[in-house]
Amino acid sequence: MKSKNWFLKGVNRGIETERFPLSPPDEVAAWSGGIAGKGNANCPTDAITNNKWDAEKCIYCRRCFPNYKPTGNLARTEPKKSHGQFKKSFFIYPFDFGTCGACNVELRALSYPQYDLNRLGIFFTNTPRHADAIVIMGVFTPKMRDAFLLAYDAMPEPKTVIALGVCAITGGVIGKNPDHVSVIDIPGCPPNPYAILDALIRVRK
Ligand code: SF4
Ligand code: SF4
Repeated sequence: MKSKNWFLKGVNRGIETERFPLSPPDEVAAWSGGIAGKGNANCPTDAITNNKWDAEKCIYCRRCFPNYKPTGNLARTEPKKSHGQFKKSFFIYPFDFGTCGACNVELRALSYPQYDLNRLGIFFTNTPRHADAIVIMGVFTPKMRDAFLLAYDAMPEPKTVIALGVCAITGGVIGKNPDHVSVIDIPGCPPNPYAILDALIRVRK
């Protein structure tokens, strides 16, 4: 997203917040969505095999360029389960296993005027006791297991788990994550804010 363009569009429109998901995204950064192409990928995470791209492994290092190029489409995975009971309001609790910081920044961006997730009934909470969903980020390590289980157990029912970023989904460049129980994986490194919003909306349907 070119912030200058977004600012000018906001000034012309008289309102800063985008209409997404009612309208398509104003602008998706090229290297944050799908990737397609042919040939040798030289991919460090095996995100491309037999010319097929796996969003859940891609760290967007661009080593596959120019054989593979961004498509401009949002990278999405389907929810394994939907939670219609969160339609009216949805409180999310970020849980950091040890990120590089970028996933946190993109998640936090949803509360800025450009995206304004509160207009969709989605809110951050800083305690698992008020959370409907725990959003895990970073590579899962055994030493964080107890802290995670404590937070998860403190959440009221019904509750759900969302994995944000390839570190949380597959371990990214570090390696394979232990199995977890996420209902939706939001691919990206870091995920695009539109992709995060899109996933948060779909998991509540
Ligand atoms: S951007 Fe990097 S991680 Fe993603 S498919 Fe290309 S080489 Fe693999
Ligand atoms: S998925 Fe990428 S951006 Fe997110 S914590 Fe891992 S390395 Fe950082």
